[in-house]
This record gives sequence, structure tokens and C-alpha cells, in this order.
Amino acid sequence: MADRIAYTKPSITELEVAYATDAARNGWGAHCYDYIHRLEREFAAHVGTRYAIATSSCTGAMQLGLAATGIGPGDEVIMADTNWIASVAPVVHLGATPVFVDILEDTWCLDPDQVEAAITPRTKAIIAVHLYGSMCDMDRLLDIGARHGVVVIEDAAEAIGSLWRGKRAGSMGAFGTFSFHGTKTVTTGEGGMFVTDDPALFERVTTLSNHGRDPKEPRQFFPTITGYKFKMANVSAAIGCAQVERISELIEGKRTIMQRYRDLLEGINGISLNAEPKPSVNGYWMPTVVFDRDTGVTREMLIDAFGQADIDARVFFWPLSELPMFSPCPQNTAARDIAGRAINLPSYHDMDLDAQARVAEVIRQINRS
Ligand SMILES: *Cc1c(COP(=O)(O)O)cnc(C)c1O
Repeated sequence: MADRIAYTKPSITELEVAYATDAARNGWGAHCYDYIHRLEREFAAHVGTRYAIATSSCTGAMQLGLAATGIGPGDEVIMADTNWIASVAPVVHLGATPVFVDILEDTWCLDPDQVEAAITPRTKAIIAVHLYGSMCDMDRLLDIGARHGVVVIEDAAEAIGSLWRGKRAGSMGAFGTFSFHGTKTVTTGEGGMFVTDDPALFERVTTLSNHGRDPKEPRQFFPTITGYKFKMANVSAAIGCAQVERISELIEGKRTIMQRYRDLLEGINGISLNAEPKPSVNGYWMPTVVFDRDTGVTREMLIDAFGQADIDARVFFWPLSELPMFSPCPQNTAARDIAGRAINLPSYHDMDLDAQARVAEVIRQINRS
């Protein structure tokens, strides 16, 4: 019996081990921020923003950015219904109201027409989540934001390696957030990053992320606002520095895995895979297959078939509006419908062709039965 195929696993080499070991041995006292500051510098250089602030998670980075933007009670924040809970939880915690709009059939990202239709006088922000590495239409969203005086934010947790007109995901909105969770393209175990070009936002988030302690405040231990504690550990940042040194290889690896799936699944009718419409480049964090409606293939059939083949497969995100804490949005037909006939495929960094062929065979069999 072949081994169970995991859906994601980080790529950890001797470089990560060496940096983490160095941080554990020497990264204390005067050196306790060395890897953190280096990771912030190198990640900002990669994304192409002026500033980056390392955080304990992407969720924390989003909470800091939204708080620094002044999002609060009475404000509405528009986002796609198809999303992981992490993008909406900070909105709820700040007392603002999330507004869920439908997704596009090809990129599974928020539909700009629906965004525009959902704008009200209370709308403060649009959160563009680049789902599974697919880019949101940033031209349209930035234009809508500018015309209505609404802030556009990018949750680029799934979009390391993704580009829009040559610009990296996360670098175009008022701010961007990234996740370095163990399942993501770049990992620090748990961790995240806040990026921005805006010096005022950078200063506010720096202060908020350190319990409201303003770096310019002369008095020690003298917070001037009630902030948060969402900082990254130096040992985690050390692993992140090694990952960012290898970021081109990690991104290329994801694209290679996607291309192999395309080749292996070629000729199978009734399915579609992650899209890459112009002018985007897709980092392909998570290869995904959506079965056409008339195939009759369902999420439950897919979970069952992959389970029997000893392969981890992940359900396509449930629409947030179908979760018990939110109100239903039956008008979001694409978000509801696609989730019922789609599955995420395994794509861990060191996945070999044989393992991918095993995954492809399951899809071939389902489509035949
Ligand atoms: C993974 C993910 C997050 C959460 O990241 P954490 O680091 O676990 O907080 C947020 N948004 C999206 C789109 C994600 O995929």
C-alpha cells in the first residue's frame, strides 16, 4: 500500500534548520529582533512595498490593519462570500459589518460588479482575497475604491507568487496581509506579515502591534493607546528568512505542480482548474478542480473517493454566509454552487509525479463512473 498523500507540507531544508538553530542559540538579548527585522526587510523587498511588519498570523495582520484604518461599529466591509473565516473574523471583532458578495465563475474571486452594487454610504473597505492564488481584478477594484472613497485591502495569504500587471499580490491595496502558516507557500510555522507603502499606516500598525507603545514615546513601558500583541518570534522569523531566500524556488515549485496537474488531467471532460486570466500570474497555492454541473459529481462523492484512495483532499471553502454565525445570502449563487462540486488537490512542495498521477487517476475514475 502506498503512503497517504498529504495535501500540504512545508519545504524545510538545511538552511531553515541552520537559521533556526542560530536563532535558538544566539538570538537573545541585543539580538532578539535580528531575524525579525531581516525578514521584514527581505519580504518588503520581495513584495515591492516600502514597509513590512512581521506578525504572529495573517489574521493578526488583518486585525491590525483594519484597526489602524479606523474600521469599527457602523462600518460595512465588502468581501467575497467564498473565503476562509480568517478574513472576516477581524471585521467582526472590530464591530463592523461584513457584506458578502458573489464570486466569479473562473477565478473564484469577488465579482467587481457585485462589489459596486453593494456599496452604501456606510461602506469603508473592500477586502480583496486572492483565492487559492487567483488574482482579484485589481484594476476594477481600485477604480471602484477610488470613485467611492472606499479603502481597498488585499488579503494575499494565498497569493505568494501571484502578480497583477507585474505587481505582486499585496502591494497594490492600502495594505496587504500574508500568512506563513504551515500550509502556505512560505512558512514560519505560524506567522504573518503586514505590508504597506503608507508611512502613517505603518506607524499606526507598529504602535498597535506592540501594545500601543509608540516607538517615539520617551517614557519606558508607556502605551499611549490600547493596542494588540501580535508579534512574531525571532526563531520563527529565522525560518522565514531561509524561506524567503528560497522564495523563487518555492513559487516555481507550486507552478510546476499545477502544470503537471494540467498535463495529467488533459482530455478529461467536464472539469475546470485554477484560471490565470490576463493580466495576472497565478502563484497556484492550491490546485483545485471544479466539476461541471451536468457531471453530477458532488463534494461528498469527491471526499469519499479521495478518502478511499488514501489521499488528503480539502473541500472548497464553504460560503461564509452558510456558517451559523452569519445570515444566509441565497443570491450568491456561484459561491454556493461551486463549493458543492469542487475539491482542492494535494500540492505539497516535494510532491513527485507519481503522487500527482495517483491524484489524477481518482479524478479520471470519478468522471467515468
Ligand atoms: C490562511 C489564510 C489566512 C489566515 O492566516 P493565519 O496566518 O492562519 O492567520 C487568512 N486569509 C486567507 C485568505 C488565508 O488563506
